[in-house]
Amino acid sequence: MAGLSERVKACVRDDVARLAPYDPNFTPCKINLSANENTYGMPEEVRSAINDAIAATATNRYPDPMSNELRDLIAAWHGVARENVCVGNGGDELLFNFFLAFGGPGKRLIDCPPTFTVYDIYSKMLGTNVVRCWRDPDTFELDMDALLPLAASADMVIVTSPNNPTGNIISVADVERLCAACPGMVMIDEAYAEFADEGTSCESLLATCDNLIVLHTYSKAFCLAGVRVGYVLAAPDVIDVLGAVRQPYTADVFAQAAAEVVTKMREGFAPTIATIKSERERLAQALSAIDGVGVWPSQGNFLLVRLPQAGAVRVSLRDDRSILVRDFSQAPGLEDCLRITVGTPSENDELVAAIANILKEAQ
Ligand SMILES: *Cc1c(COP(=O)(O)O)cnc(C)c1O
Repeated sequence: MAGLSERVKACVRDDVARLAPYDPNFTPCKINLSANENTYGMPEEVRSAINDAIAATATNRYPDPMSNELRDLIAAWHGVARENVCVGNGGDELLFNFFLAFGGPGKRLIDCPPTFTVYDIYSKMLGTNVVRCWRDPDTFELDMDALLPLAASADMVIVTSPNNPTGNIISVADVERLCAACPGMVMIDEAYAEFADEGTSCESLLATCDNLIVLHTYSKAFCLAGVRVGYVLAAPDVIDVLGAVRQPYTADVFAQAAAEVVTKMREGFAPTIATIKSERERLAQALSAIDGVGVWPSQGNFLLVRLPQAGAVRVSLRDDRSILVRDFSQAPGLEDCLRITVGTPSENDELVAAIANILKEAQ
């Protein structure tokens, strides 16, 4: 996507002139494994309950600004109080509000790349200083020895767990050390927590770490990427400041209704989540059996793979086989890497066969 025009650049602040519009690099394809969505789709009985709830929803009144009914359901689910929950228009809005409240000129964020680039975009947009604490170049594990001293002088630290696009998690013990070291706020982005091993979420620390913010979304495991609902869990005074900076009506009546149904019927997603986790392991095995392909272990619903000529392979998958995956080959630290969302068994089979073929033809 093109950057901003010179005419517009002349009219905006310098920091805005340096921005480029977010580009998800989307092309319609038969098989879309590019955005870490749940490719299995909504269970039928949940979809039908959402349809009923939406049919019964009035649109002439403003929504409840804080989504209190949904907050209560989320609070009961996670064993916290309503005051510990803030709902947003997707996790992205909550991340933006986190930067709005705690970032800005004179504030310092510690970011741990390679990771979700939205943090970098929002910090630039809001004038926050970013200090990068690079992950290990081979394993993508966090460098806790470097991170803890940096956290000690930070206003904000953000760690993604499982990390997008590398699949690593941060241990609960390390989150606890991070919260103790940091005088500011520690955000753990758990957008993919439902796909990770039992006991890896740091949520249990909320009771003791009052500077911990845990982000969740309905976009990945719960099939609501198109609806836009996410939430954070944090101490009540942290929720208050997030409430103070937010636009009041971003969670619309349909979104609140759909998320309420999904929360009540969340057990209905357990079978597909289990399938995605087992397909992830099967896909990892099959891809790593191809000559020249390296696969990192992942706790998310995606795999990071390294292969020769990754950029060209991705184009060939898209243009010759109508399979879309995400190209990270130009991203710092991710040379020759693609990120592949775990698909249905037949999608995964088609992808593996296509990659094997493309690499064989290239020889
Ligand atoms: C997908 C994602 C989110 C949130 O996505 P929303 O659709 O805005 O809820 C947050 N963090 C990471 C790392 C993600 O990959």
